[in-house]
Amino acid sequence: MSASIHCGFSIRPLLSGALLVVFLLSLPGAGAALLAREYSRGALAEGTRWENPYYVIDSGVDGPVVLITGGMHGNEPAGSRAAEQIVHWDIVRGRVVIVPRTNTPGLKANTRFMPGVDKPANNLNRNFPGTGAPDIARSVPGKALWELARKLRPQWVFDLHEGFDFHIANKGSVGSSVIYLDSPETRKVATLLIDEVNSTITDPKRKLVHISGGPVNTGLARACIDRFGSKGFILETTFNRQPLSLRVRQHRLMVYKALSHLGMVAGGPHVLAGRKAAAAARAIPADELVLVALYDGGGTGGDGVRNVTRQLHPLDKVVLCNVGPADIASGVLPQFDVTIFPGGSGSGIARAIGKEGRERVRGFVREGGGYIGICAGGYLAASNYDWSLGLVDAKTITGKHWLRGKGKVKIELTKEGRAIFGDFRGPLDVSFSNGPIVSPAGLDRLPDFKPLAVYKTEHAENGSPKGLQVGTPAIIAGRCESGRVISISPHPEATEGLR
Ligand SMILES: [Zn+2]
Repeated sequence: MSASIHCGFSIRPLLSGALLVVFLLSLPGAGAALLAREYSRGALAEGTRWENPYYVIDSGVDGPVVLITGGMHGNEPAGSRAAEQIVHWDIVRGRVVIVPRTNTPGLKANTRFMPGVDKPANNLNRNFPGTGAPDIARSVPGKALWELARKLRPQWVFDLHEGFDFHIANKGSVGSSVIYLDSPETRKVATLLIDEVNSTITDPKRKLVHISGGPVNTGLARACIDRFGSKGFILETTFNRQPLSLRVRQHRLMVYKALSHLGMVAGGPHVLAGRKAAAAARAIPADELVLVALYDGGGTGGDGVRNVTRQLHPLDKVVLCNVGPADIASGVLPQFDVTIFPGGSGSGIARAIGKEGRERVRGFVREGGGYIGICAGGYLAASNYDWSLGLVDAKTITGKHWLRGKGKVKIELTKEGRAIFGDFRGPLDVSFSNGPIVSPAGLDRLPDFKPLAVYKTEHAENGSPKGLQVGTPAIIAGRCESGRVISISPHPEATEGLR
């Protein structure tokens, strides 16, 4: 059962197309533009299914050449995401070359190896010339990346990876470590990076450690050490039990520390996005880009983060960064046009970001930022809890009977909704999962919200009163000073045909 069948046509662009292009692009641009001296962009393995971009940031000032790679193993997205963020950094000395998505098909499939490639060539980070072996790389993406490395002969290489477990507690994984070939200089740098991240970790079983026996033979970092005398590092976070935003933050802290040690960077480690740099790097006009901060920290749950990511991350015009409580506390939100709070628990998210974080989100919206709340994010936007953000003049009316259950319900777009999402008439099937059932809160400090869609049917389990949900708004839009807010009670992002 999907909306496309129900309506006789696809309304696939409902969330991705309409919300982003119509709603978000009308927001004023946010984020300090940190434009480095010169950007250029190239493609590796062009015209093949392995094609992936690389970015060169040239400071115009003499200095080291640093190569940063991510996504060698497709199930290790943090390195790839961090590398995408580093593209926005202000490089003040030397040249930084960033290849964020070396194994693009693997990243798409969330698999370690290269999809469709036979063993042993399927592990991209074993495709580079081995110690003492002929100077030949294998596989299409391996050869292309090695050709770039040979041209660059980088003094420093940082290959960003993730392990499945913390090395400090489980020697079977290299997660949360810095891997390098021991020398006084490499040990000093590794210590700087490890100390930097460890100062943010309280749990002793999650701290980063040294692995100084050298990066793996036939890996990129090792090949660069062998052939060019590079200082080569593999930086590892741990993907189990840690949200993506936290792992990306650890990579960012390490790379920033290294570049800062080399006197190459300014602006701080928490530049995640920048309109001008992104526009230059993506060759897209700056005013066509939408910079999105997706909250993925404590209180999120289910597939919310994953579903939103699937919709938005592949879009070239969307710069998507996951953010967690620490990032919000670091003040990253003003770098973005819009923040999305997905499903989970509204009070859980509020607790995780804390009072200060809640004030940061409110401030971001008041000053012109966009807010999209989905389900839990809708509860969070409401005005009737002591932990909610009060971004829309709406209150929930379910009291203690908020647990109405999960299933398909029907919604219908209002005239205002059709003006935003397109002229889709008639009921649409959409997934519902204990979303907020709201009515006007009647606050003076906020303008009335506009319903964009209403519930035509309901879900009322667990002793919830029947008849309460039908006719109430399923999607509402409101203004909060200069900012715009959309609160979505059901889960269109999880609904086949509505995505
Ligand atoms: Zn890896």
